[in-house]
Amino acid sequence: MLRTTLLAAARSRTCRTLVERAPVTRGLVAKYVAGSTLESALPAVERLTAARLVTLDHLGEDTRDADQAHETVDAYSRLLAELGRTGLADRAEVSVKLSAVGQFLPDDGEKIALDNARRICEAAAAAGTTVTLDMEDHTTVDSTLAILAELRTDFPWVGAVLQAYLHRTQADCRDLSGAGSRVRLCKGAYDEPASVAYRDKAEVDRSYVRCLRVLMGGQGYPMVASHDPRLVSIAGALADSSGRGPGDYEHQMLYGIRENEQRRIAEQGRRMRVYVPYGDEWYGYFMRRLAERPANVAFFARSLLTN
Ligand code: FAD
Repeated sequence: MLRTTLLAAARSRTCRTLVERAPVTRGLVAKYVAGSTLESALPAVERLTAARLVTLDHLGEDTRDADQAHETVDAYSRLLAELGRTGLADRAEVSVKLSAVGQFLPDDGEKIALDNARRICEAAAAAGTTVTLDMEDHTTVDSTLAILAELRTDFPWVGAVLQAYLHRTQADCRDLSGAGSRVRLCKGAYDEPASVAYRDKAEVDRSYVRCLRVLMGGQGYPMVASHDPRLVSIAGALADSSGRGPGDYEHQMLYGIRENEQRRIAEQGRRMRVYVPYGDEWYGYFMRRLAERPANVAFFARSLLTN
């Protein structure tokens, strides 16, 4: 119930104004967001890439304005040029939300998002790194996978996220388990109806294991995006039983979440990638992080009342 309310608030303009104006918010946002500009986020990227890998997200989503979509492409181009110039491209890639580059624009949204994503892939190729397409709510999955297929004809290294809470995902994992495919498997962060998604935590976890089994047994490169200790350990066991070495898959976690666990995995010689968001369009991302953990909400609510 609380999760549903917070995820609805993540798309409300009124709530956005209230949360953005609350004095306490900035400090909490800093836990999950590396900086409001590329320059302010780079020190975190440099620190993390000493022992871990990184994927950078220039925050933004649900764009209804073509100029804003182009500005997002420019921001990614600047980011990728900087990763190339500094040599960070060896250890840092980028994650892109297609709704930030035009997927929801009227009429030609999918085509605009494809063209814009292509420009980002060209910049990534020039820098010597890769791109992963984030996955948003279930209404975008077909369009995102169609854009992925188009992009992969020219840039076979483009990856995508699949969400274990969707009923369809085990089949999508099968489709994307071929050689060269890069799939980041997560539980899923949106409020989805029971007609398309498992809503019970145990069912989502069981689906995650089924999907991971398909990816680990396939020819592609699985990216295990979860902070859940049980799933992290199951991933290691499935990798071993599928004959995968430490370079044949990776773990991924979000910036600011389970730092000690991130370090522990990296120290064991396993690949650990941190998803690092930056920029001032943090509202939707921040609300989804609050929704994931009731303790976050209680802390946020207490801080609002005492400030
Ligand atoms: P949970 O059972 O939710 O969490 C396990 C434990 O992790 C918790 O007990 C807690 O200790 C810790 N934890 C989890 N979340 C938080 C938090 N917010 N604050 C503090 N502690 C926390 N979702 C999408 O829908 N689309 C995407 O494209 C997408 N990309 C992702 C990329 C990466 C690299 C990762 C790690 C996640 C991504 N997600 C995405 C989010 C994902 O779907 C989940 O919502 C999120 O990861 C929480 O699920 P969990 O597997 O960590 O398990």
